[in-house]
Amino acid sequence: MAQLVYVNNPANGELIHTLQYDSEEAIVSKVESAAAAFSSWKQRSAHERAQLLNSWAKCIRENRQEIGELITLENGKPLPEALGEVDYAVSYIDWYAEEAKRIYGRTVPAHVPNKRITVTKEPIGLVAAITPWNFPAAMMTRKAAPALAAGCTFIVKPAEETPLTTIRLIELAHSVGIPEDALQYVLNEGPIVGEIFTSHKAIRKITFTGSTPVGKLLMEQSAQTVKHVTMELGGHAPIIVAKDADLNVAVEQTVTAKFRNAGQTCVSPNRLIVHEEIAEEFTKLLVDKVQTLKVGNGFDPDVNVGPIINKKGFIKIKEQIEDAVNRGATLACGNGYDIDDEKGYYFVLPTVITDIPLDAKIMHEETFGPVIPVVTFTTLEEAVTIANDSPYGLAAYFFTENYKDGLYLSENLQYGIIGWNDGAPSGAHIPFGGMKDSGVGREGGSEGIEPYLETKYLSVGV
Ligand code: ADP
Repeated sequence: MAQLVYVNNPANGELIHTLQYDSEEAIVSKVESAAAAFSSWKQRSAHERAQLLNSWAKCIRENRQEIGELITLENGKPLPEALGEVDYAVSYIDWYAEEAKRIYGRTVPAHVPNKRITVTKEPIGLVAAITPWNFPAAMMTRKAAPALAAGCTFIVKPAEETPLTTIRLIELAHSVGIPEDALQYVLNEGPIVGEIFTSHKAIRKITFTGSTPVGKLLMEQSAQTVKHVTMELGGHAPIIVAKDADLNVAVEQTVTAKFRNAGQTCVSPNRLIVHEEIAEEFTKLLVDKVQTLKVGNGFDPDVNVGPIINKKGFIKIKEQIEDAVNRGATLACGNGYDIDDEKGYYFVLPTVITDIPLDAKIMHEETFGPVIPVVTFTTLEEAVTIANDSPYGLAAYFFTENYKDGLYLSENLQYGIIGWNDGAPSGAHIPFGGMKDSGVGREGGSEGIEPYLETKYLSVGV
């Protein structure tokens, strides 16, 4: 008997759907059929692949409401955010449908008269993806679209918490003519699928979005078959607020960036580093704004902050708050939970923490929840030192109206994504990814298709 998997609504713990896990044999067989589909998929012209991707995008747009509701149901985020995610997910398909047609090679001037040298790009082969639950649609299309555009076939394991969105997106892809074998999903637990994906020789690339420990493990496992890897891992984003910052903009953008998806986003700000002269005023404005946020079921139109995805996530957040309080920190607002362990739902009130020592857990560990600490600085050098004191290097934000300070900060922050007076610096047309423990490679932009391509060099003697 195949094992059953239950998908529950994190807002109330109710069962949404029951699915069957694939057996290990079934997973291997799907991998092999996706590998076999590579030879015919890569032979389609780039224009034909682009047309199929465009049809997929159109079809998702036609089903925008249904998919948005599915995301809210299994992930919990407020419906407007879920609909925004659908648009964001489709924008990657749009972008890579265009990029498919721009996979250029080049000719290289030869070093001797009797040679001709050309460099071409080829699809890498079968790509396997493992995706997280926080953006069930966008994390999948951000990987599948460039892979399919490049001519790769693609197999994905969605997060156990949110498989339904992926399944539906793949059904829609098949309905518009993307071949069933070329785009597939498998369902089972992460470690089981991870082991099969990383050890199978037919898979040439692993693309993963999730936690840093799992990313490190997948890189280690992938070494055995020398697979290419793209890793989008954890983050611990700082926000530096300089003394000349426009405080209303800084507060507005901080709140949007921080509390989106209940803080369960890898680019979510995790530390506010505020100039001492404006810290009091900034914190007051921030707390006033945070207290207007409504927590609850994402289908309620007034709700801004949905549930935490599961108990594990909730416990981590709670431990970080308790650790801060035990070290003498003040809770400027928040500090409340609405949980029901039996039913299985966990809500955390948006929380701002002040008077916190730099060695508190939350200052170093990713929170993935609607909680943010505020610390102060005197000089910009000090702010940069605090900001860079992290194993992570995904996103960093700062607010200043001074261009010299802005350039200083953008050049000295060790992060792959920098938002200057901008709390939402993401998009299909720009390279997203981190430094240090935040990962390897970039997704989006013209950079985002390169990881799905091999370079071939041809030297012709004439
Ligand atoms: P989180 O703790 O936030 O769920 P994870 O990194 O554990 O973050 O999960 C992200 C994705 O990685 C999910 O699809 C999950 O099933 C998968 N995963 C978890 N553990 C492993 C593993 N050992 N090997 C491969 N995938 C894994």
